[in-house]
Amino acid sequence: HVTTLDGQIDDCLCNVDAVDIFNNNQLYPRLNSLLQRDYFKFFKVDLSTECPHWTDDSRCAIRYCHVEKCEEADIPPGLKGASENQSNKNKYSDQAQSPPESCDTDKELGYLNTTISDAAHAGFIEWEQYDDATDNFCDESSYLSPNATYVDLSLNPERYTGYKGESAHRIWNAIYKENCFRPKASTFTSYIENSKLNDMCLEKRSFYRVLSGLHSSINIHLSARYLLSDKSSLGMPSPSGTWGPNLDEFYRRFSPEHTDGEGPNWLQNLYFVYLLEMRAIAKAAPYLQREPYFTGDSEEDKMVAKAVEDILKTIKSFPHHFNESTMFNGGKQAAKLLSEFKQHFRNISKIMDCVGCDKCKLWGKLQTQGLGTALKILFSGRFNQIIKNMDISNASRTEFQLHRMEIVSLFNAFGRLSTSIYELENFRNMMR
Ligand code: FAD
Repeated sequence: HVTTLDGQIDDCLCNVDAVDIFNNNQLYPRLNSLLQRDYFKFFKVDLSTECPHWTDDSRCAIRYCHVEKCEEADIPPGLKGASENQSNKNKYSDQAQSPPESCDTDKELGYLNTTISDAAHAGFIEWEQYDDATDNFCDESSYLSPNATYVDLSLNPERYTGYKGESAHRIWNAIYKENCFRPKASTFTSYIENSKLNDMCLEKRSFYRVLSGLHSSINIHLSARYLLSDKSSLGMPSPSGTWGPNLDEFYRRFSPEHTDGEGPNWLQNLYFVYLLEMRAIAKAAPYLQREPYFTGDSEEDKMVAKAVEDILKTIKSFPHHFNESTMFNGGKQAAKLLSEFKQHFRNISKIMDCVGCDKCKLWGKLQTQGLGTALKILFSGRFNQIIKNMDISNASRTEFQLHRMEIVSLFNAFGRLSTSIYELENFRNMMR
């Protein structure tokens, strides 16, 4: 029964089969190849930020939790801030200690003037107010921090690490119990039973579904790239081990008998968050199409821009996109809900600093950052406006910008979901 998911995906005008066929045949191979390219595989992140919630931190000593950092020489010059020979050079540079980039330029300058002045305290308050007013669903300090370093994602694949037990449960519990909107009469399980979801409004239901979908995706990856043996495939002792799909592990995590019947719903939530992120990319297509994808190697950059264009075209051809216009559209009440939604999501992005396994933290941060970028694209009024302008009059895009790391995390996060759906098909075949 894990294999036969209910046809229709809740709250979407789409069914599982349509997504499977589209993703596995068309999108997954394209995305997989794009994400190997330099522009997308170098992710800048601060893994050293202290957990704001608890101190214990059982920092994980498991060897598979280790993250390989990049040598300076490995990072393409364009990503380090070499001139792009374009006026908007700063946008692609991560070197400058710049304020958030998704903002109106005048306000950025205004902010700098205030902080440079003697009124440091007033500047700080202004900064906070300013930050609150932005469209961001995630804290940007992770990649703007002076402690942020580049990680080559291809050298640090998301897979089984052995991170489990109390530390991992505390994170998932914090996400579900402390930060999720919950139905009033909920029993205190870490998740929300599917039957209770209909008591919630669409927005709150969706909030739960995206987190549960992300959780499913992470657990599918660790089951699909499981440490099968610490020996090589030829049975010799090996430092790298043998990795591959573990059907029992997958079954334990998602079969109805092991999950009080909820496993298939959790898998459905994966399809939900996939559709939501894909719609965000489709919506931002006019913007993403104009990115130069600058790394300093013009041949490479042209190739990547072409590959992105091809992916955007493929995504736009999908006939059953998620319809975000049904959410947050009820006047004052909706604005309040959106602001709560943003605050909850920001809390969750901060909880990622408490993950006690660096590899899991890396991918957790990347995927929440990507999801936050998708939500910003879908629900930011300013972005709606700019996209409209681009469609109609090719207006310049000084009002709204995505930071390079937001684009990188958006595509990589979506790539993770796409891979999960592909892996799910492999598990289905193994079961058959
Ligand atoms: P958990 O996955 O820890 O789940 C806890 C409880 O949540 C379950 O008992 C169930 O009641 C409920 N639940 C489970 N799935 C869902 C769902 N989809 N929706 C709603 N509720 C659900 N481990 C790795 O090996 N590699 C990784 O890269 C990795 N990355 C991680 C990233 C983060 C941010 C976190 C928090 C954990 C990560 N882990 C990773 C650990 C992994 O997710 C599990 O926590 C761990 O394997 C223990 O699994 P478990 O069976 O105890 O249940």
